[in-house]
Amino acid sequence: MSIQTANTSQAHESMFDAVLARLDVAAKLMNLSENVSQVLRNPSKQVKVSLPVMMDNGKVKVFNGYRTVHSTHLGPSKGGIRYAMDVNADEVMALAAWMSFKCAVANLPYGGAKGGIKCDPRTMSVGELERLTRAYAVSMKDVFGVNKDIPAPDMGTSGREMAWILDEFNKNTGEDSPGVITGKPIAVGGSLGRDAATGRGVMVNTLAALKKMGLKPTEVTAVVQGFGNVGSHAARLLAEQGLKIVGIGDHTASFYNEKGIDIKAAMDYAEKNNRTLKGFTGATEIQSSELLISKCDVLVPAALQNVITLENAPKIQAKLIVEGANGPTTPEADPILNEKKIICVPDILANSGGVTVSYFEWVQNKAGYYWSEDEVNSKHDLKMEIAFEAVWHNASHYKTSMRIAAYITALQKIEQGVKLKGDY
Ligand code: NAD
Repeated sequence: MSIQTANTSQAHESMFDAVLARLDVAAKLMNLSENVSQVLRNPSKQVKVSLPVMMDNGKVKVFNGYRTVHSTHLGPSKGGIRYAMDVNADEVMALAAWMSFKCAVANLPYGGAKGGIKCDPRTMSVGELERLTRAYAVSMKDVFGVNKDIPAPDMGTSGREMAWILDEFNKNTGEDSPGVITGKPIAVGGSLGRDAATGRGVMVNTLAALKKMGLKPTEVTAVVQGFGNVGSHAARLLAEQGLKIVGIGDHTASFYNEKGIDIKAAMDYAEKNNRTLKGFTGATEIQSSELLISKCDVLVPAALQNVITLENAPKIQAKLIVEGANGPTTPEADPILNEKKIICVPDILANSGGVTVSYFEWVQNKAGYYWSEDEVNSKHDLKMEIAFEAVWHNASHYKTSMRIAAYITALQKIEQGVKLKGDY
């Protein structure tokens, strides 16, 4: 089968250029209207703010905050808020575009957005983080809205920050609007099942892909990079399905055990160790660069972007990659994976479980009626299976990779939205 991928002749310094490279390949294959392509190549709104925060040492520090709305053609924009030192306008723009495509692939009535603050949350006190988060929420009061732009957690943020943002938003409007933000703690309008949802989506996509490949979960090994929200739940849920997790790692340490790692023990250890794995004794510590290329059938990058590259892609031993993180594979690595016949379930499909349950949370907030965890999980699993099948079908129909097929699946829906809503 001849597979078309993004142009590999140049490295993509900009993450947004990497998004456009894939968009262009998909657009050409599916014959996307040039007008629609032009609209999607440009985010609809970009906001940058300066956030002065009183630090614990009595000095003011000014942080850069961002929010980009990429599209609103299928509904209000949706996307997480990231706290990390490498947050910048280009990254936020790329992540916002991915959210547009992700929501469309998962068949959610949303456009895409993303936000972030350039900061290192691990070195900040809870008080500093709270002041910074509240300052960001106030600066975004005209951007966010229940039917406008709905944030959620991403790297470096969790339900705690979502509750602070909700509180600031409510103070500003004088109303309780739980649906303005998702990924909240249960007590303030969160949904059961949201915490593990992205990892759960990774699990459902892995099982769907293994079935297509004729592999039994109980005969398969897996390596998971990242042991935060996505990675730890993905590892736990995959282990519950019978996969043997032989490798795990985070920013502090990486581990391998061919006999399998007790994920529950690793999660308990991380919980007591400031959410890090350094010092875990249930497996042999290895170099972090070895983790992605170690022996396994399934590889789940669930930490950060640009980790599967021109350099390490030739050494990857997995038959299946399921992208828990956003953008873990560079466009330059794509053709190498395709040549090696490694199936890659791309981020915009593989990690769409989180936004799917965020959507359920928003629906429950709007209705003021809350579902059981089983109800959330079964609705989630069904949506993921339908999304996987649609992308698998397009991969075969257009004779392309799962990644380009996921873009095509998304673009087919967004194109309708852009055309039906029209322009000026
Ligand atoms: P998190 O902050 O909970 O965890 C991130 C994990 O990555 C941590 O274990 C951290 O130690 C690890 N990590 C950081 N740098 C690393 C490095 N250099 N090497 C190895 N590990 C490293 O974040 P998360 O919410 O789990 O998000 C992880 C990825 O999944 C991000 O790309 C995010 O955009 C994506 N994502 C998250 C969600 C969600 O619901 N949380 C949804 C969709 C996509």
